[in-house]
Amino acid sequence: MSKYNGSCLCGAILYEVNGEIRDILNCHCSDCRKSHGAAFRTRGAVDVNALTFVSGEELLTRYEHKAGEYRSFCSRCGSAIATFFLDLSKPIGLALGTLDSALDKGAEIHVFVSDKASWHTITDDLPQFPELPEGALQNAEPTTELL
Ligand SMILES: [Zn+2]
Ligand SMILES: [Zn+2]
Repeated sequence: MSKYNGSCLCGAILYEVNGEIRDILNCHCSDCRKSHGAAFRTRGAVDVNALTFVSGEELLTRYEHKAGEYRSFCSRCGSAIATFFLDLSKPIGLALGTLDSALDKGAEIHVFVSDKASWHTITDDLPQFPELPEGALQNAEPTTELL
């Protein structure tokens, strides 16, 4: 089983992922832009039971961004850590920028490109989707309307 480590900027929050990080995508929605202070958020899906906090979990603040969807961040340094869902059948969305371990793969698609920052240009050849495609990455074919 794969194992990864990650931490927030101030180092108080340390976490482990015991399992796969999959379905990695770059999300260009304005919500991700604001919460990460960046052009887009890169997130990977991890199973609910795969993410464990080694330290600092008491500093993790959960913000209910949409009903049943909680974005979490370090209350000391502001690092975005992960998105949790009340519906535990949904995987956790891990903010890959907080990973300390090497990862031998990267984003596979760009999503919510219809909401992309005007000042950012996507320069790679990954498939682009105007929103989040149904079933995210399985059999995802890019729509042509924005390409
Ligand atoms: Zn921190
Ligand atoms: Zn987003």
